[in-house]
Amino acid sequence: MVKININRATNIISSVARFSIELLFPSACPLCGAPVSTDGELCADCWNAFDWIGSPRCERCGYPFPANLDLGPHPLCPNCAAGECVLDLVRCACAYDAASRSAVLPFKHSGRIHNANFMSRAMIWALRDTDISPDVIMPVPLAWRRLFHRGYNQATLLARPIANAFGVPMDVASVRRAYRPDMGHKNATQRAENIHGVFTVKHPDKIAGRKILLVDDVMTTGATFKELGRVLKRSGASAVYGVTFCRVVRAI
Ligand SMILES: [Zn+2]
Ligand SMILES: [Zn+2]
Repeated sequence: MVKININRATNIISSVARFSIELLFPSACPLCGAPVSTDGELCADCWNAFDWIGSPRCERCGYPFPANLDLGPHPLCPNCAAGECVLDLVRCACAYDAASRSAVLPFKHSGRIHNANFMSRAMIWALRDTDISPDVIMPVPLAWRRLFHRGYNQATLLARPIANAFGVPMDVASVRRAYRPDMGHKNATQRAENIHGVFTVKHPDKIAGRKILLVDDVMTTGATFKELGRVLKRSGASAVYGVTFCRVVRAI
């Protein structure tokens, strides 16, 4: 009898404790399930696992430099110094590694769309010290065939909160992307060749004179941004910026 009462008391205490925890921490970390105070936020352990990109970095393309490198107040990477960057500014929240892969791959391929909350928040954070004022936010278009199979464009899920943060509309209709087979592990030259000519501007009147912020989940070689930026500028875009959640960081 006493044992039953103790069990009941223990159950009641644990229920009260769980209820209190849920009151205090109503949300779970989207990656590990640990309680967090704000819906969609990462827990401290998961946050610390990412390689967030801060200063010093290339002022134009956001390429991260070693922490001890002092290149003055306006540092440029060799590519941007040589004028090879088509976009006017690029920022990426973190480096592509095991941690960011564990967030991006399920987001992209397994329907874990709620990862968009913390990913888009990190992307807005990555743009915080820039002075860009885009007129429109454009998720990098997905070929219709891919959209049909996946059911969603992951870039659009990231772009919506970013458009809200800037208080400007999203444009998902002005550019169409042709289907090309997966780029897989192709090198930079092959990726650039594969992407050449895939984007078509359908509504040039929506592009001319606009400052456009492109949104994507991952920047691998930068070939997609470069090609889309080229096409948009040819249609008269006055500025093209880009932001991604993560980027592959290679030695340059
Ligand atoms: Zn976590
Ligand atoms: Zn650069």
